[in-house]
Amino acid sequence: MSECLFCKIINDSVPAMFIYEDDDIVAFNDINPQAPVHILIVPKKHIPTVMDIEKNSVDLIGKIYLVAQRLSLEHGISEQGFRLVVNCNHDAGQEIFHIHFHLLGGRKMLWPPG
Ligand code: 5GP
Ligand code: ZN
Repeated sequence: MSECLFCKIINDSVPAMFIYEDDDIVAFNDINPQAPVHILIVPKKHIPTVMDIEKNSVDLIGKIYLVAQRLSLEHGISEQGFRLVVNCNHDAGQEIFHIHFHLLGGRKMLWPPG
């Protein structure tokens, strides 16, 4: 997956770029934030979309939620609330085909989403 931007970030990044890292998952700030807190939580494994999640990745995807909990606490948005968003394919506006979870918070979110 050498041409995948997020694989490159995961493989080439200096550690300081990440606000969270473990063996399976990294998190870093979105380059174009849509809220005061806008963090991307990304599995190191290259899974292109939600449609490519297989049974052997279910634990990994579950761990993403624990990382989201931790980051929401660290960034002071756990009580006020936050949104965790995964865009899948064209109609949802997915641009990077390496699955990632947007952790958005620090402002009131609108519903329905645009
Ligand atoms: P998607 O539309 O695929 O759900 O979200 C892709 C996200 O990645 C966008 O919010 C975009 O701003 C972010 N992004 C794209 N390129 C980069 C980059 O080089 N660095 C970082 N930190 N975020 C990026
Ligand atoms: Zn990738």
